[in-house]
Amino acid sequence: MANNRASGLAKTSPILIIGAGVFGLSTAIHAARRGYTNITVFDRQSYEQSNYDFDKGCDAASADINKIVRTAYGDEIDHQEMCTEAIKEWREWDQEIASGKDLPPGMTTEDRVFVNNGSLSLSATQRLDMYEVDSIEGMRAAGLRKSALVTTDEKDQTEASKQGFAYALDPFRREEKGLPYIGLLDTTGGYAVADNACRLALHKAKRLGVRFVFGERRGTLKELVYRDESRTDVTGIITEDGSVHSSSLVLLACGGWTPALVPQLDGITEATAGSVALVKIPPTSRLRERYSEKNFPTFQFRMYGGSNGGLYGFACDNRGLLKIGYRGTRYTNPLVQQDGKERSVPITRWTLPHRTDKIAAHALAVINQFIDEEMPDIRAEGLGITRTRLCWYTDTFDDHYIIDYVPGSTSLMVATGCSGHAFKFLPNIGKHVVDIWERSGTDQLPKSRWLWRRLREGQKPDNIIMQGSAGPNTLSKANMVLAGQEATLAKL
Ligand SMILES: Cc1cc2nc3c(=O)[nH]c(=O)nc-3n(C[C@H](O)[C@H](O)[C@H](O)COP(=O)(O)OP(=O)(O)OC[C@H]3O[C@@H](n4cnc5c(N)ncnc54)[C@H](O)[C@@H]3O)c2cc1C
Repeated sequence: MANNRASGLAKTSPILIIGAGVFGLSTAIHAARRGYTNITVFDRQSYEQSNYDFDKGCDAASADINKIVRTAYGDEIDHQEMCTEAIKEWREWDQEIASGKDLPPGMTTEDRVFVNNGSLSLSATQRLDMYEVDSIEGMRAAGLRKSALVTTDEKDQTEASKQGFAYALDPFRREEKGLPYIGLLDTTGGYAVADNACRLALHKAKRLGVRFVFGERRGTLKELVYRDESRTDVTGIITEDGSVHSSSLVLLACGGWTPALVPQLDGITEATAGSVALVKIPPTSRLRERYSEKNFPTFQFRMYGGSNGGLYGFACDNRGLLKIGYRGTRYTNPLVQQDGKERSVPITRWTLPHRTDKIAAHALAVINQFIDEEMPDIRAEGLGITRTRLCWYTDTFDDHYIIDYVPGSTSLMVATGCSGHAFKFLPNIGKHVVDIWERSGTDQLPKSRWLWRRLREGQKPDNIIMQGSAGPNTLSKANMVLAGQEATLAKL
């Protein structure tokens, strides 16, 4: 029996992964590829029925229609390299689908998981943000200069046209409106078709021998079974149906639900809500073509614009859904937990006993203003936001994932802290998770960033987390509104 010396884990040891989102799925695939033969993934969602569709009861961050894929990663070259590797795999996954061999149930050769319509980070000024300057530098050093194009640079405009991305340089037609703009167009990027991608990953994991247990009773982690009162090592889990599952390793990959499950994560990570709005474009509208992936890039707009910026969005999908997200303010839902401490817990349109379809009035107003100013043709057709929802990040104080054993434990790990940017790594993040559980290469980037850590003395946090009910951005303090209640900034 092969033993992994670092963790003492045999390849046949029972491993339980809780959560079948990006982290859980990717880890399951890579662990199985590395020869682990006894892996079970639990999730409270019945993904085999819902197919990761947020209209069918799903509320994980991973269960979505689209997520940005970009190589441009500022000065974080390790992430840039990871994305280059991921995009190669995204393309291979699409080739597999197109070949029609071994498709997940219900998928056809017409389906895709990656759309390369360009990823544009645009600001409403005439100066590139520092992040984009660093991205250009990083991509240039990696031989990707022709994929990192400045929207207002003539040579880059010619290059964009040559590559078929002319449409992506000024998607909001700011030039003809006489408005300033400049941006970085990453022509390697675009978006992942999120629900399809998760379905495919689930299918791949099953083919590799991973077992899945889904559902509110059988699939839901109720409690961890600790070895002793020190509450560090675990011997397994108990699910909501009362079943006990023994294990050598439990990996918690529960997204926004993880911080409330692992109190040791206090001060490191917190569940925060992003706000998402959908505009439904009717099949007969000319806007279907205007905002199709052939004519419209994946975009981020005024990402450094504070609470009135932080917008991103996508081309209209084949159902006519155009998604615009707002992350300028991330909201919390602090609730007192069993140990008396407050931790932010996700609330969505599917959570019980409390659920919501609403988003904060400020978030809706920023998105509405963006549509008014940048996409006025939507208004001209009498269209607007038809639906809203909260989608839960797991923010860390430094915007990096947290993937490690809980301190003192050799049997309990977490893989979370998405901080809004892990979807693109669905094909390859799991490789690093397995490296970390095997304690292999953990002194190297990117893994060294993701190990257990705390805010150091004098370190400035990227995100101020765990302010509890005293924090400024709790949902209870926000005026929550529905899509039809057209909040505007002027009225607030
Ligand atoms: C609004 C928003 C926009 C984003 N945009 C992008 C983007 O454009 N590009 C990008 O790369 N990344 C993006 N991300 C980040 C990306 O979506 C996440 O990094 C990724 O989906 C997180 O996956 P996860 O597995 O950690 O969590 P999740 O996807 O939330 O999955 C957690 C799973 O755990 C399950 N679970 C929870 N509790 C239990 C329990 N007790 N028992 C059993 N199962 C349980 C849940 O049902 C769920 O399936 C975005 C995130 C958000 C929130």
